[in-house]
Formats: sequence, C-alpha cells, structure tokens
Amino acid sequence: MPSDCLFCKIIAREIPAEIVYEDDGTLAFLDIHPINPGHTLIIPKRHSDSFAVTPPEDVAAVMRAAQTLSPAILKAVGADAFNFTANNGRAAGQLVFHTHFHFMPRFAADGYKMWHGPEGDHHLSDVAAKIRAALA
Ligand code: AMP
Ligand code: ZN
Repeated sequence: MPSDCLFCKIIAREIPAEIVYEDDGTLAFLDIHPINPGHTLIIPKRHSDSFAVTPPEDVAAVMRAAQTLSPAILKAVGADAFNFTANNGRAAGQLVFHTHFHFMPRFAADGYKMWHGPEGDHHLSDVAAKIRAALA
C-alpha cells in the first residue's frame, strides 16, 4: 500500500469514514462530497492506482458489492435510480489514485443531466478502425 493513499488509510481505519459495507475484497463508504444522499464509493481493498490497471478479480469483487449494495442504498435514500461510474485518469477527473467506483443515487427531479455529444460528423468508422487496430 502506498503510505500516502487516502483510501488505503480508510481501509486500515487510520482515518474515519462512514463505512456501509465490507467483505473480503471490498469496502464501501459514503463520499464526503455527495452529489445526492447515499453517494457511495466502492473500492477494492487491494491497492491499484486506477480502474485500467486493477486486477480483474478485484473489479469483479467491486461489481458484486455494487449489486449487493444497490437495492439497500436506493431503499435507504428513496432514490429512483443510480449512476455507477469510475473516473480513470486526471483528465477524466480522477483525484484519488486508489481505484474506486462512484455509486450515485438519482432522483427523477434532481436536475443532473447526462453528457450528450454535439451533432456532426464524428468519423465513427475511422475511429472504430483505429481502435480495432490498437487491439490487434
Ligand atoms: P475521483 O474524483 O473520482 O477521484 O473521486 C474522489 C472522491 O473521493 C470525491 O468524490 C471526493 O469527494 C471523495 N473523497 C475524498 N476524500 C474522501 C474521504 N476522506 N472520505 C470519503 N470520500 C472522500
Ligand atoms: Zn490505496
């Protein structure tokens, strides 16, 4: 564990958090700056810097925990739905470099809008060809 990792310190109970769930591989606690009540961070206990480099079994453990938690969080806060996402990398808004997923309860009238790209020619076939080539 990196000695300066905030979320490793929460796992080790060195700094406080409102922990709502724990199992062998994961921990879930409330985000201190919630976008809505019940905004929860779900993390693997084993440190990885970000989603892209997280061992698949740790990703799977987080997904399982999210499915266990989702009905409980929605019931607890009376939410209608949720977004579940990971910011991967600084340019995507990642501030804490211990892999985490945001479970964000949503209410029909909360006013948050999903991103929508502009109309226009997005050269989809070129982009798709580049991605397929990068995978080869
Ligand atoms: P990200 O921008 O995806 O790296 O998100 C990091 C999240 O961690 C932010 O939503 C912060 O509000 C949250 N956060 C930072 N410090 C703490 C803390 N001590 N306890 C709970 N959540 C935290
Ligand atoms: Zn960590």
